[in-house]
Amino acid sequence: MHRKVVIIGSGPAGLTAALYAARANLEPLIVRGLQPGGLITTTNEVENYPGFIESIGGYDLANTMEQQAIKFGAETLDAIITHADLSERPFTLTTDGGATVLADTVIIATGASPRKLNVPGEDALANRGVSYCATCDGFFFRGKRGVVVGGGDSALEEGLFLTRFVTELVIVHRRDSLRASAIMQERALTNPKIRFEWDSVVEEIVGEEKVTGIRVRNLKTDATKLIETDGVFPFIGHVPNSQLFAGQLATDESGYLITDHRRRTGVPGVFAAGDVVDHIYRQAVTAAGEGCQAAMEATWFLAEQEFLAKQAESVAA
Ligand SMILES: Cc1cc2nc3c(=O)[nH]c(=O)nc-3n(C[C@H](O)[C@H](O)[C@H](O)COP(=O)(O)OP(=O)(O)OC[C@H]3O[C@@H](n4cnc5c(N)ncnc54)[C@H](O)[C@@H]3O)c2cc1C
Repeated sequence: MHRKVVIIGSGPAGLTAALYAARANLEPLIVRGLQPGGLITTTNEVENYPGFIESIGGYDLANTMEQQAIKFGAETLDAIITHADLSERPFTLTTDGGATVLADTVIIATGASPRKLNVPGEDALANRGVSYCATCDGFFFRGKRGVVVGGGDSALEEGLFLTRFVTELVIVHRRDSLRASAIMQERALTNPKIRFEWDSVVEEIVGEEKVTGIRVRNLKTDATKLIETDGVFPFIGHVPNSQLFAGQLATDESGYLITDHRRRTGVPGVFAAGDVVDHIYRQAVTAAGEGCQAAMEATWFLAEQEFLAKQAESVAA
């Protein structure tokens, strides 16, 4: 299989890249990966994607994006890329089924996975009180109690955002001081809705149909206790899905791929978009926007390569 554009990932970034590449007549191939539709499919209601007055389900949103791209000629492949050789063009991608896909350009849209607490109850109560996105789900906790886990900037930022909705917020942090920036610390420490549970780790998320509490252990005293809550928001970091390109593409110290403002990686013909690059905004709309940029860049790159090849041919003739 040899394609002009291969897109790794089928979340908002990958699907938007596919739409733009398909409309440029490039018949892109979308490799869907383990999570077709991407992270957004894990939420029931998306209320902040422009164009939908009523909320839309995350699965429906991703499915609509995919159908739109397919309508213009994109193709999907249900596979995981397990190996990528970006040392020469065409690039060689290998799937978990052992197939080889050759690509003149690659758009990496593999996203980032929220780092989990890995405690009992976390998976079973996901989307039933456990959420990894306060910006996305905070609104559903109006008038309820919330818990944030973490002590960095994103934990405090998301926690402060949650205080717009919740009646009280407990921040569980494993140390007795915060890692976050001074300004975020001051805002959180002086917010009357926020209480800190210092030196503590979550050992269990409790609830049957939905979250009713968390069990925490104090690391200094070893005492455990139950904190009643309606929502748990772990913000202990994200893990960008960039391991596949280790040693081939530059990353920051947390593993996020580095691109320039035109979504170009250090390898000409390889572009990256969405949460695998972006550790700040992490929204469907920003991922989609970057996917659009990556596809437009891939289109221009291919046109330039074609022009250069023709020029070389005419010089040779
Ligand atoms: C619970 C929750 C609720 C959210 N709600 C909202 C919201 O309301 N509004 C909003 O704007 N954002 C929301 N977000 C954030 C949003 O989902 C992400 O910002 C967005 O999905 C990022 O898109 P992406 O395409 O970059 O990556 P992702 O959506 O993470 O997609 C990554 C894709 O890469 C694929 N992949 C990974 N590795 C491989 C591989 N090796 N081979 C092939 N494919 C691979 C996966 O299968 C997946 O299809 C929410 C997130 C969560 C977790």
